[in-house]
Amino acid sequence: MTEPAGRSGDLQSQWARVRGRLREECGDAAYRAWLKSMTLYGVDDGRVRIGVPTRFLRDWVSQHYSDRIRALWNDENEAIAAVEILVTGRMAAQPIEAEPVAPGRDGNEIAAVAAEEKDISAPLDPRFTFENFVVGKPNELAHAAARRVAEAQMGARHGTNPQLPFNPLFLYGGVGLGKTHLMHAIAWHIRTRAPHRKVIYLSAEKFMFQFVRAIRFKDTMAFKEQFRSVDVLMIDDVQFIGGRDATQEEFFHTFNALVDQNRQIVISADKSPSDLEGIEERVKSRLGWGLVADIHPTTYELRLGILQAKAETTHLSVPPKVLEFLAHKITSNVRELEGALHRISAHTQLTGGMVTLEGAQDVLHDLLRANDRRVTIDEIQKRVAEHFNIRLADMHSARRARAVARPRQVAMYLCKQLTPRSLPEIGRKFGGRDHTTVMHAVRKIEELKAADTTLAEDIELLRRMLES
Ligand code: ADP
Ligand code: MG
Repeated sequence: MTEPAGRSGDLQSQWARVRGRLREECGDAAYRAWLKSMTLYGVDDGRVRIGVPTRFLRDWVSQHYSDRIRALWNDENEAIAAVEILVTGRMAAQPIEAEPVAPGRDGNEIAAVAAEEKDISAPLDPRFTFENFVVGKPNELAHAAARRVAEAQMGARHGTNPQLPFNPLFLYGGVGLGKTHLMHAIAWHIRTRAPHRKVIYLSAEKFMFQFVRAIRFKDTMAFKEQFRSVDVLMIDDVQFIGGRDATQEEFFHTFNALVDQNRQIVISADKSPSDLEGIEERVKSRLGWGLVADIHPTTYELRLGILQAKAETTHLSVPPKVLEFLAHKITSNVRELEGALHRISAHTQLTGGMVTLEGAQDVLHDLLRANDRRVTIDEIQKRVAEHFNIRLADMHSARRARAVARPRQVAMYLCKQLTPRSLPEIGRKFGGRDHTTVMHAVRKIEELKAADTTLAEDIELLRRMLES
């Protein structure tokens, strides 16, 4: 028997926390490679049933993670004594949905966290050191700057102010390009070589959370004190501070106070200071006062270098051909690259075989598909205009004549079907049209396609051309 419906809310939040903890423990790459696809199917008799999509995943998760999953479940719910991993296709029951929740975010847990947390610095990932960071053109400035910041703390006694190279150091770049890695590397470097220097690293979200909690417990003084005595303060992903006025204000005050005392600040974000949204001008401009270093998207050479380094540290012997193949194919970010290598390594261990190109393609087919070249709106507009023999400019123009309006609608329809772009984004690319216009076009074409076989064939042809 599955738990009665009345308790599924409970199970759901327990499951969300279990997943959140697993993600923290295993790291993002492993979590996404192995655990993300798990769905909870219910609890019978102290036994949790979890579904995964393939037999391979079932074997892997059971072998490597089921003990942890059981222990985490047991922390949440004492009644749980066993975990069963099943292949989803075989189960008739409906899964219980839950997104992972980071530990400690839940309102009820606040007091508990407050009591146990003395140091507000977040844990550091032991793999994120300078030694493990592969330097290439896209990240050399950011890397050199991070090193300088760390080196400047050497030899300074606690409470004294060393000569700072630049303050703040602002690192920015896309997801998975190494911002967090560099910040942790700074912290490790200082902690191991100058342990008397006080370094605090935390995410902007955690900073906000701490601050909001301090307000709730009427303890903003203590909150500020924690930062007053710090030598190096690092705040990751500050784009998340945007919009929350009081936190922004507090962030700014803390920031100013520390800069005035010549304490080192390191900030990261996904955008440059001037492009940050929802952040006040004066804050933005102050953020850009020191050195602003951006991390560019990876190049083939850097990806290959990273893969070689990772393969070496994991003692995985991967033929150069396979590494080159991965560096070519997986271009999104370093995290995905790592995930790919992780999976190949696991698969090889499990099957006891050799790493081959075919094997790699097989194990990674979903990742490879996601990294395949995507059709762009520009290409669609160009092809559709050619096909219907209208001017490309008419894709953007305001002309409403059927002869141009219909092809334009077809193009909008194809953009919705073939690209991950949202309706407003598509509208913008069609001469700044509203998202409702795009929605109307999509519906219209769907309707017409059903009745008009010539149009349906035209669209099918265009789709095939665009996807080939
Ligand atoms: P970000 O914070 O920019 O989103 P992370 O620092 O979390 O990205 O990096 C994602 C993953 O990629 C981490 O596991 C990190 O170790 C790895 N990584 C990123 N850049 C490099 C690099 N240059 N050398 C080695 N590993 C890297
Ligand atoms: Mg990060």
